[in-house]
Amino acid sequence: MKKRLLVAVVTIIIFELTAVAGVFLYMLFSSQNTSFNISNADIKASEDIDKFKKSKLNVNNSHDIVADIQFSKNIVSITQTINFDKASKTLYAYVNSDNTAETSIKKVSSSTGDLSFSKKGSVLEISGSRVESSITVEYDITLGSGRSTLTHMNNRYYLTNFLITPGVYKKDVLIRPYKSTLGDPYIYNSMSYYIIIKADKSLDVFAPAQKEEHIFGANKITILEAANMRDFPIVIAESSSVSKISHEGIDIFYINSSETAGYVKKAIDFAQKNIGKYPYPSFFVVKAPITQNGMEFSGMIFLSDMCFGNKDYLKTLTYHEVLHQWFYGIIGTDQINEPFLDEGLVTYLSELPDGGHPSKPLFSGISSRKFLSRALSDYSSREEYYRLAYNDSALYFYNIHKKLGNNFYKLLNKIYEDKKFKMLYFEDFLSYASNY
Ligand SMILES: [Zn+2]
Repeated sequence: MKKRLLVAVVTIIIFELTAVAGVFLYMLFSSQNTSFNISNADIKASEDIDKFKKSKLNVNNSHDIVADIQFSKNIVSITQTINFDKASKTLYAYVNSDNTAETSIKKVSSSTGDLSFSKKGSVLEISGSRVESSITVEYDITLGSGRSTLTHMNNRYYLTNFLITPGVYKKDVLIRPYKSTLGDPYIYNSMSYYIIIKADKSLDVFAPAQKEEHIFGANKITILEAANMRDFPIVIAESSSVSKISHEGIDIFYINSSETAGYVKKAIDFAQKNIGKYPYPSFFVVKAPITQNGMEFSGMIFLSDMCFGNKDYLKTLTYHEVLHQWFYGIIGTDQINEPFLDEGLVTYLSELPDGGHPSKPLFSGISSRKFLSRALSDYSSREEYYRLAYNDSALYFYNIHKKLGNNFYKLLNKIYEDKKFKMLYFEDFLSYASNY
């Protein structure tokens, strides 16, 4: 009996061990099976993508910004070459995405090897032992999923003010942007961009640029090329409600925002008549999940989804953001040190496309002019920022218009002719205005 029992126990133990080993082997096999669940076709596609990207990047490497972008869920990985205007041992660039998303810089290099770098605020200082004018930065941006101008929400990527861009100098002095929850702490020279994006083939890439698409297996490679842009905005979405309406030779794309088409056309007509021509082939109007009411980018505007319920407000907001294409975009302004210049001017101008004269109480008060000496960081609250940099400054420009009469438009037109794709500082504005 004892021997039989022993045999039975040993048999059970062996049986159990075999079963456990079986389960273990099964788990091992199935986990390997998932991690190696890439077919030969996929490997081939991925090699083809690398080869294709390399061939494209090799011949298009002279743009000011050349970026290779890919996604892994909410992480945007970017390898970016920046071609600076001037060569130097120490180069400065702006990590614009720092203001709205966590950004980690992995490596900075040049053709001669790795370079050392440090970041103060959003200013990246790059130094090496040789004079360099072209550097490559590898970095990751971790996107949140909340309301923001740089976010991954509802399977859509909203990528704005996200690329690293060269430092801007005013009379040889570097302008130093900083993080700010107020306003737009960004400043850009006009630049040319060449961007390659690898994303799932079900996603469409929207950007104010010449676009080329290539399908490789489950992926789509989109190539974007544009010139004379400040920032470079991109929206990536599964084919959403997009309507294209051409107006005055401009292809205007409305992403879930076609109800603003009348306002957009009116603002463009007003600006083209009174300031100067819209110089890009396309323009994007995006209804976006943002906390601000609206936001301007080169060739694109975001209008908050929360503002579509009030038609009167939506109209003024649309005018405001469209007119930023001229003051901020085509004619650059220093949004760090003189935020009132583009905000005040655009707030005032957005009263005009409907014709007639501005009659709101806004234009009957006395402008305090406190805004003149305030940089973005000098404002202590949102309320104060809007009161001074928008309203008081708008009143200031209204008074200039009243004084100059129709010469006001001659002034704007002269500024456009001289400063298109350049920077307009307030001192420049004053000197132009003194001629009228
Ligand atoms: Zn604005």
